[in-house]
Parts: sequence; structure tokens; C-alpha cells
Amino acid sequence: MKFASFYRDGALNVGIVDAAAGRVRPVNGVTGMIDLVARYADIKPSIIKEAIIKETIIKETMASGAQDLALGDVRVTAPIPVPRRNIFCVGKNYGEHAREFSNSGFEAGAKKDQAIDEYPAIFSKGPNTVVGPNDNVQLHSGITSSVDYEAELAVIIGKPGRNIAKKDAYGHVFGYTIVNDVTARDRQKNHKQWFIGKTLDTFCPMGPWITTSDEVDPENLDVKCWVNGELRQNANTRDLIFDIPSLIATISEGMALVPGDIIATGTPAGVGIGFNPPKFLKSGDVVAIEIAGLGRIENRFVGDAD
Ligand code: MG
Repeated sequence: MKFASFYRDGALNVGIVDAAAGRVRPVNGVTGMIDLVARYADIKPSIIKEAIIKETIIKETMASGAQDLALGDVRVTAPIPVPRRNIFCVGKNYGEHAREFSNSGFEAGAKKDQAIDEYPAIFSKGPNTVVGPNDNVQLHSGITSSVDYEAELAVIIGKPGRNIAKKDAYGHVFGYTIVNDVTARDRQKNHKQWFIGKTLDTFCPMGPWITTSDEVDPENLDVKCWVNGELRQNANTRDLIFDIPSLIATISEGMALVPGDIIATGTPAGVGIGFNPPKFLKSGDVVAIEIAGLGRIENRFVGDAD
């Protein structure tokens, strides 16, 4: 199933998406996407969970008389428009990208021939960064001149847990979505810690919706990114250095993950700093990202006056 957050008549709704038909059916009885995820997250095993989700939500929507709406008649926003806490992110998680970043001159403290790390680099982006799948992204040209894109598969945590074992990790996943981990490369480099270069307002386009874990194989998804129609990134999640169970196990060590937590799993090669000279984004550029089975996001980058 696919669950979207969307605005209709100024109110935020959650709905079940029929992507092929271009329709969305509002889900009643939940206060938002995090509530929906939390309510259905602890039912297991997953195959039963999915059946119960469908049955419960269909009953609720049928009982309330909810009507299908055309996706074109609503404004789809990020599936989790305001995360409860920072988005967990992973750096250098595809081999080719790790090398292009290490060689770009934009990685503080980079060591020659040591592009692949022994442990995953974990950082975060604030909830302030999240915008919808078709919203504009601000270039913040007064403070950075090196805005870059990063197409990524994002994991949505369902069942809460701490010290989650790798073998149990997928049982804690509710579903998946797409994010663009937009980055100000100069700030990422100059401040050594990546946070300040990653967390500018609007720097995390997300969506278009959450696809539940039963619908996709997260270890075999094509990830593609275009800038103004030019294919820049083209990879598959099978090439992740640290796979999803490893990331969940690492991040949950000593820290409970909760429903609605988001983990961006890292970007493949082909970002702007992978080119010589680098290809940074400028006003009017459009970045589109597709991940097989998850949909497409497309965001225009705009100057401060736009
Ligand atoms: Mg990233």
C-alpha cells in the first residue's frame, strides 16, 4: 500500500494512494501519518500486519464514506511533513560515491585511498528541512554557493525498538520513501561536522508517499536522479556498503527508534561534486528523483528572491 499526506481545502489529510489510477482515498480516524504508522506498527509478523492494515483502514474508510479524490485535485506534501525529530542520514554508503566525495576536496579530513570507512558515518538533518515532493528548494545564495543534490532511499521506522539485531531489523520497517539529501558543500566542508551544511530550510524534499515494506525489495531498487532532464545518478540499492539491517542495528544501539523515524540510506555516485569542475545547482534547476516502486519527486531550486 501507499500512504500519502496531502492538503485538501487547507487541511492536512492522510490517504491511501492508487498510483496507477491517480487517486487517493482519505483515511479517517488518524491524526496524521505518524499516528497511522504507530497504530499499525507493532502487529506482526509483517504479512499479517499488512492484511490487518488493509482490512482496518478499508473498514474505517468505508464506514466513513470517504470518497476517492484525484491526486491532481489535492496538494501532496511530504508523507511525514514534520518529523518528530531529526532525520538520520548515512554518508558515503555507495563505493563509487565514497570515492568521488573523498577525491572532490569537499570532505574535511579526507585521507587518500581511505574512502571506504569501517563504520557508517551517521549525521542528521533537522525537521525544518522537509518539503514536499514538488515544492521549491531555496538555494540560500547569501550563505552558500555550492548546493548539491543527493538521491536516496529512505526507511520509515514502524515498530519501535532499541538495540535492534540485524536479523530483526526488517520487522521494524513500516515502509520506504524518497528523499533528496540536499547539501551545501562549502558548509559541509568548512564546519567539519556535516550538520550545518545539511540542515538549511527546505533541504530535504521527500515523497511522494510511503510505500509499505511488503511492496518492494529494498535491496534491489533502481535509484535515478536527473538535473534538468540530464541523468546524473543511476544505481541500485544492492550496492549499499552498509545495508538496511546494519544501519538500523547501528543507529538503534543505545537509542530507541520510534514510529515515524526516518533513515536516509546514502546517495550513489553522480552528485555535483563528482564532476570536474563541480556542477552545483543554480536558480531554475529542476532535480527529479525516481526509485523503482516508490514513485518520483521533482523539485525546482530557486534563489532567495523567487
Ligand atoms: Mg546523503
